[in-house]
Amino acid sequence: MKRNFAFVGGHPILDFCNTIFIHSNSMLDLFESKADIERWSKDLSLQHKIDFTHLDLSVEVASQLRTLLRSLFESAILAKSSTTSLKKLNTIFHNHPITTHVEFSEELTFSFVPGQFSNQGIAWLQIQLQDFLLKSQPHRLKKCENPNCSHLFYDKSKSATRTWCSMSGCGNVMKSRKFRNGLKSR
Ligand SMILES: [Zn+2]
Repeated sequence: MKRNFAFVGGHPILDFCNTIFIHSNSMLDLFESKADIERWSKDLSLQHKIDFTHLDLSVEVASQLRTLLRSLFESAILAKSSTTSLKKLNTIFHNHPITTHVEFSEELTFSFVPGQFSNQGIAWLQIQLQDFLLKSQPHRLKKCENPNCSHLFYDKSKSATRTWCSMSGCGNVMKSRKFRNGLKSR
């Protein structure tokens, strides 16, 4: 069954992590085939209005990187370090260097390209992670409080007090649950 992807992370790197999540008490993995990754790439470029052809990664490498990134982010949310994941992720990144490419058309611009022996998908993830870490404030990185969700998201609200990945989805579910519990305890 083809499932729709959720783009509630607020950043491509979090949306990438959110392609696996808790659903009906088990983990649901949306990357079952390379075609799923291609489909996700297309949806992502539309959602984030970025120029992005596709994420060139095998299902195995994509899920390995996703597990590592997810573990790092989840630890960071708890203000902890995940030494094993850090070591593994850094080893992969060090083996897949990216190169700065400078261009001039009306003004000087630069972009990152995969190094000579590098992989486009791993390079893209490194760039997205750099971008996220440069722009983000640690306290705004969160995990949805709906126990049947587990999506990661970046809280862009002014007060930084959002607890659900999306107001229309988990926000409503949690609100009606609170309401029902309130009725029961009366
Ligand atoms: Zn959620």
